[in-house]
Amino acid sequence: MNSSTLAELTKRVLAHRDERHWAQFHTPKELAVSLAVEASELLALMQWKTGPELDETLAARSEQVRDELADCLHSLLLLADHMKVDLGEALKQKLQKDAAKYPVEKARGKNVKYTEL
Ligand SMILES: [Mg+2]
Repeated sequence: MNSSTLAELTKRVLAHRDERHWAQFHTPKELAVSLAVEASELLALMQWKTGPELDETLAARSEQVRDELADCLHSLLLLADHMKVDLGEALKQKLQKDAAKYPVEKARGKNVKYTEL
């Protein structure tokens, strides 16, 4: 993670959008669809790969992985701006909720849902 703040990055994606007059297409649903599509494109890079083959594939496709991660963030920043969500605050609050659901003493080293702890 570099030093760019979420606010700075949001300004950049909004400028990119506005230069192209694309706000008219950016409903919350379309932005959520875009986020899911970009996450799927990231998954597609890993499809059918496991273990060492997955590691090798990701290394060979590192630029594509980076591009898809950027696409995900791009869509997420646009959606959060549209929904007036402060992503930094939202993440901090969600981490607090998750910490209550997954207390360290119960969850450490386990990969099960909180209902199974
Ligand atoms: Mg993409």
